[in-house]
Amino acid sequence: MGDLGLVHRQLTVRNPRTGADDFSIVPASGADLDRIVARARHAQPAWEAAGLDGRIAALARWRDAVAAARDDLIAAVSVDTGRRAESLREADNIGKWIDRWSNAARQALAPRMTQTSNPAFQATSGFMAIPVLGVISPWNFPMSLSLMDAIPALLAGCAVVIKPSEVTPRFVAPLVRTLADIPELAGIVTYVQGDGATGAALVDRVDGICFTGSTATGRKVAAQAGARLIPCFVELGGKDAAIVLEGSDIERATSAILTGATLGTGQQCYSIERIYVARPLHDAFVTRLVEKARKLRLAHPDPTDGQIGPLIFAPQAEIIHAQLRDARAKGAQVHCGGAIETHGGGLWIAPTVLTGVTHDMAVMRDETFGPLMPVMAFDGAEQAVALANDSIYGLSGAVFGPRAMAMQVAARMRAGAVCVNDAGATPFFIGDTSVCGSDAFGCSGLGGTRRGPDSILRFVRRKLMLDNTDTAPSPWWYPV
Ligand code: NDP
Repeated sequence: MGDLGLVHRQLTVRNPRTGADDFSIVPASGADLDRIVARARHAQPAWEAAGLDGRIAALARWRDAVAAARDDLIAAVSVDTGRRAESLREADNIGKWIDRWSNAARQALAPRMTQTSNPAFQATSGFMAIPVLGVISPWNFPMSLSLMDAIPALLAGCAVVIKPSEVTPRFVAPLVRTLADIPELAGIVTYVQGDGATGAALVDRVDGICFTGSTATGRKVAAQAGARLIPCFVELGGKDAAIVLEGSDIERATSAILTGATLGTGQQCYSIERIYVARPLHDAFVTRLVEKARKLRLAHPDPTDGQIGPLIFAPQAEIIHAQLRDARAKGAQVHCGGAIETHGGGLWIAPTVLTGVTHDMAVMRDETFGPLMPVMAFDGAEQAVALANDSIYGLSGAVFGPRAMAMQVAARMRAGAVCVNDAGATPFFIGDTSVCGSDAFGCSGLGGTRRGPDSILRFVRRKLMLDNTDTAPSPWWYPV
């Protein structure tokens, strides 16, 4: 394939704490991608033929190399994202996920032999990996999200070519260095730097694509993959709702929802972005939420002192600002936070609680990706479910209340993963074999679960070998 207009050029990268363009990348050209994908395609059969034990052993060595480089990785992701605590989590996720998914792979990829309904036939299952899987990932948890699909895909036997976001590319060099002493992974794990054009060019070259990012870009990726008829898994935006039913423990609900809405400065696909509270609890809930929200501090100037990091992607500040302007103009009240602040060149916003909101406001309909907590009262569980389901998105959600009632409401929410009497817990179960799968609903994604052992089966084509053990002719043969 040719260069598709992708020529070598330099992209500058902004530092989210200082606002300075202090890093740059050279995006891969079309010719680079041709070479990288060809190398992956050449290396993949041996990787698959190594068997699950061989792949698990190689990935365990990578886990150890990553652990040895922990400080470098944390330092790089901390500059990419401007935050510290989450960067520790990102570095530690890698080893944890390799271990968890290695266990899950043993379960998911175990061959099965069954006697069929016809006694002559035995059925044996088999798997063939998607040879070269492209992974395109966003900036909000840049290192974790570049690997969340890549690790199970590697265990399945794929070679992966990963295009992380151009907004947060600093972690790539130290991570790639951890691969140097693991020859089995040469050509099997490759990072390519670049922007949207590089991502689009990657989709044109691979055998399957995993995309994590916005719904708008996800549509383009899915259309492009559809035109090529390659498997496509898109994990997209969210507008997660939390419902606080009558009988809820307000202390518990406010603590969990505050965390679920502001962790990572709300720059999470599964952030709580809409809060519906039973009318009798509304005022007490808002009072307590505001009290607690005011206690969270911007992690400035010391990134280890405070909970709220800077906005990573500068244009996000304008989206948040526009949602606040729209809500205020339509009558919403802001109880705390409410303004984009500039400190040290970075863009920040303190946790913001709004009331008097309606579904006519962008803050209740569009993804915010910031620490805004719009609270709306409801009358009865029916209305709560209707409001929560009044969204194009359906990633995850939360319900608080007496357990039986809360479980019933959770079951009726159009969202893939719902926490009951907690919020934002689902990412802590990634790769965990003890949980079942959860699909994204609506415009939050397409293509199968990222959780549970089933997530690995996304990356293989399943096979059926039907073995006729009988010597007699089959009854459906022509009698000739
Ligand atoms: P984008 O959709 O803007 O970008 C995602 C990735 O796609 C980036 O690497 C981007 O490159 C690349 N890209 C851009 N255009 C194209 C294209 N035409 N073809 C192929 N690739 C392209 O998302 P953001 O980076 O802004 O991430 C934030 C979004 O991600 C939010 O909507 C959030 O909800 C979602 N998200 C979803 C998650 C989930 O699990 N459902 C998890 C985390 C985030 P570049 O950045 O270089 O332009």
